[in-house]
Amino acid sequence: MRRTKITATIGPSCDDPIIMAKMMCAGMDVARLNLSHGDRETHRQRIRLLRKTSQEVGIEIGIMLDTCGPEVRLTQLDQPRELKPGDYLVLTRDDVPGPDRVGVSWDGIFSMIAPGHQLWVDDGNLVMRCIEQRSNALKLEVVVGGILKNRKKISSPDSTWPLDILTDRDRDILLMGIEEEMDFVAASFVRSAEDVVAIRKFFEVNRFDPLIISKIENRAGVENLAEILAVSNGVMVARGDLGVELPPEQVPWLQKDIILQANELGIPVVTATQMLESMTHNPRPTRAEVSDVAHAIWDGSDSVMLSAETASGQYPVEAVQMMAKIAGDADARREYVIPRARATSRVADAVSRAAAEVADSLDARAILTSTATGYTARMVSRSRPSVPIVAISPSQTVVRRLKLTWGVFPLSSDDAEHSDDMVAKAIEAAADCGYVSDGDLVVLIAGVPSGIPGTTNFLRVETVSNPVLVGTGLGYGEPVTAVVRFQPSRYEPLQEEPYIAVAIDFDSETADFFRHAKAVVAERSGRTSDIAVAAITMGIPAIVGVEGARTRLHNGQIVTIDPIRGVIYKGRAKI
Ligand code: PGA
Ligand code: MN
Repeated sequence: MRRTKITATIGPSCDDPIIMAKMMCAGMDVARLNLSHGDRETHRQRIRLLRKTSQEVGIEIGIMLDTCGPEVRLTQLDQPRELKPGDYLVLTRDDVPGPDRVGVSWDGIFSMIAPGHQLWVDDGNLVMRCIEQRSNALKLEVVVGGILKNRKKISSPDSTWPLDILTDRDRDILLMGIEEEMDFVAASFVRSAEDVVAIRKFFEVNRFDPLIISKIENRAGVENLAEILAVSNGVMVARGDLGVELPPEQVPWLQKDIILQANELGIPVVTATQMLESMTHNPRPTRAEVSDVAHAIWDGSDSVMLSAETASGQYPVEAVQMMAKIAGDADARREYVIPRARATSRVADAVSRAAAEVADSLDARAILTSTATGYTARMVSRSRPSVPIVAISPSQTVVRRLKLTWGVFPLSSDDAEHSDDMVAKAIEAAADCGYVSDGDLVVLIAGVPSGIPGTTNFLRVETVSNPVLVGTGLGYGEPVTAVVRFQPSRYEPLQEEPYIAVAIDFDSETADFFRHAKAVVAERSGRTSDIAVAAITMGIPAIVGVEGARTRLHNGQIVTIDPIRGVIYKGRAKI
C-alpha cells in the first residue's frame, strides 16, 4: 500500500474532467495551482472542476494555491529571442520594449543592480552582467546565452528583492481561494518567520485559516529555516529555485536537512520539482528520476510533487501513475524508511510512538486515530509505522488537509460523544472503507477530550468485530476459535476436529459431545444451570444464556468465543 502522498500541479494539460478523474484515480492526493500562471477566474474554474470531479469519483483531494511571492519577471516580450554571449540588452520600465529592450515587472530592480552584478534569467539558463545602471533602465551584457522567453523569472546572486511576501496578484487570487475553501497555501520565497506571520495575518483579516506550506527556495529561507518551520504548517523543498539561488550541488543535502527538521516537528514536507521532468515529453521517466523520487521518500518526504509533468506535459496521467508506482515500491522497503519521532517527556510524543510500537508488536492491521484537528494523525506519522494510519475526523476540512501527510488515510465520520462511542465510530468507519475487517486487531489513539490539538493521551487495543451473539461468560479459559456443532457428528470420531458445542442445555445422553468440545455455548441461562455446572466440572470454557444461539448460529460455521466477556464473534477474531 502506498504511504507517500502525491501532489500534482494542475495546468492546461489537465483542464479536462476526464484527465482530472484519471489523475485522482491514479493517486493524486493534492492538486496544486500555480498562481504565477493563469488568472483568477481560470483558477476558480479549475478548483470548481476539481471539487466536482472529486465528488464524482469519490476520492477526496486537497487544494493548494502556490503564490508568486516576491519574484521579478520579464514582461512584454512579443516572441522568444535568441541571445548569444556578448549581446547587449536593455532592461527597462518601458512597457513596450524596442528591439534590444525588455520590460521588467518591478522597477525597484534599477536601483538594486549595479555594474558588475549578475542577473539570472529562467532558472539560470541565461546569465547576464550589468554594465550600466540608470534610474529607469539597466544595460546588460549576455554572459551565458540561450532563448529568452516572456514572463521568465529573474534572480540575482547579488541581492534579494525586498518585496512583500504576497504580491497584489497573490492577494487577489487568494481571496478567491478563500471563497472556494482552499486547503493549503504554498508560500513562495519565504525568507523569515515574519514572512509567514504576514501571510497568516492576511488570512486572519479575511477570516480563513489554510495550512501554510513555506517554500524554501533561497538563501534567506535556508538560513532562517528553524524559525520559519516553527511558525509554518508544512514545508516544501522547492528545488527548482533553490538550485538557482544556491549552488545546485547543495540541493541534495539541503533536501535532507529540511526534511529531517520537518519530520521531527511533525509537519508535512513536500519534495518538489523536476522529479519526473523527462515525462513532460516522454511516456517513461529516466532511471535517475525514478531513483530521485525513491530517495526523496527515504529521506522522509511526506509528499512528492509533479510540476510541468502534469501541468503542461504530454503525459499527466502516466506521470501520476508512475509516481504512485515508485512511491508504493519505496514505501514497501521498510529497511529504508526512517522513523523520526522523538523520545521526549511530552505525553503526545510518548503515546504516538507507543501506538506504532504496539501496532508492530501485536501485528495489528491498522492504527486508528480519532482526530478533530489532524494533530494526532501527524504525530503518529512521524513514527512511520508499518501499518496504515486511518484518521477519522468529523471535519471534512481536516480530512482534506491530511492528504499531505505520510501514511495517513483520512476518513470522515460523525462527532463522537464519549470515548467508547469514539472507538466504535472509528472502527466502523475504517471497516466501511475496507481498511480493517472482522477479527483484525487495531490500535486506537486519540486526544481526550477531543478538539484540543496537542492532547494525544489515549491508547487502546481492540478487535474489530461484529459480535454475533452475547451471553454470560463463565469467566475462565482462553478465547477459542473453532467450528460450531449442534450435535455429535455421526461420521467422525469426536476428538478429530476441534469444535464448539452449541446446545439448549446439558443432555446426559450426549455427555461425550460436551466433554470433547473446546468450548460450550448454551441457550439456558444461569451460572447454576445444569450446563454451567457440567462445563465447570469438565473445565471447558463456556458462555451461557445466549438467546437464540441455535437459530442465529449455524452448524459448521467458524466462530471465536471470548469466554471471559461472554462474546461470540464471526470468524477468526483476534482477542
Ligand atoms: P515553483 O516552486 O514551481 O513555483 O517555482 C517550486 C520550486 O521552485 O522548486
Ligand atoms: Mn519556485
